[in-house]
Amino acid sequence: MVRNTWVIGNWKMHGSNAFAEQWATEFKEQAVTDVNVGVCPPFPYLSVLSTLLAEQGVQVGAQNVAATNEGAFTGEVAANMLADVGATLALVGHSERRALFAENNEQVLAKCRQLVAQGITPVVCLGETQAEREAGDTEKVVAAQLAPLLAVMQTENIKPILAYEPVWAIGTGLTASPEQAQAVHAFIRAELAKVAPELAKNTPILYGGSVNRDNAASLFAEEDIDGGLIGGASLQAEHFSAICEALKGRKA
Ligand code: PEP
Repeated sequence: MVRNTWVIGNWKMHGSNAFAEQWATEFKEQAVTDVNVGVCPPFPYLSVLSTLLAEQGVQVGAQNVAATNEGAFTGEVAANMLADVGATLALVGHSERRALFAENNEQVLAKCRQLVAQGITPVVCLGETQAEREAGDTEKVVAAQLAPLLAVMQTENIKPILAYEPVWAIGTGLTASPEQAQAVHAFIRAELAKVAPELAKNTPILYGGSVNRDNAASLFAEEDIDGGLIGGASLQAEHFSAICEALKGRKA
């Protein structure tokens, strides 16, 4: 198997029913084909978007999921509920969840297990802060974030999409250079290879952090960058489509 490439949008806490409808109409007009595309809106718009985007083959994903099965967990949303409203992807361990909601690596693994049990692909986010990069700790931090998942990926048949998202590049307008991003992607792939060559070969590793229609192609040209996780630029369907186009033909 050759790994898939993806462009996945993260709307964060933005949108409305009207926005979702408008976005879907505009995205359809751009007629993007032959690219794996996912969109992660806030929970309330998953259902409507999965219906609106089904015809174009765009997958819909959540931005978070409960670490447990359904039960007395007020305010949480279980993986089976995500599957029920058409989600086939879910972000896990986004840096905003880690920083603002204290999500840790063990919870990330628990969430992945819940998702996999429902046939939903986890999109697991990894990345260092500016201070960690300056201290020379990027690889150490990323390896520690990946470790609990990596330990069970093979034995539990978990097939995530990984997203390297340097925290200092998210929503800041600062993008890792293609070379900086490639270096970390190659490191992540080498970590996967230590467990099994197939994991390195088959696991998509996306880059996220201020990707836009101008810088996408140069990032996607790198050997180990298998597409992008797009925040701000995903809110404009035209910009997001241009980023999808930039990935086209990048790899089989
Ligand atoms: C993100 O939220 O995952 C992200 C990469 O955001 P942005 O593209 O806005 O930096």
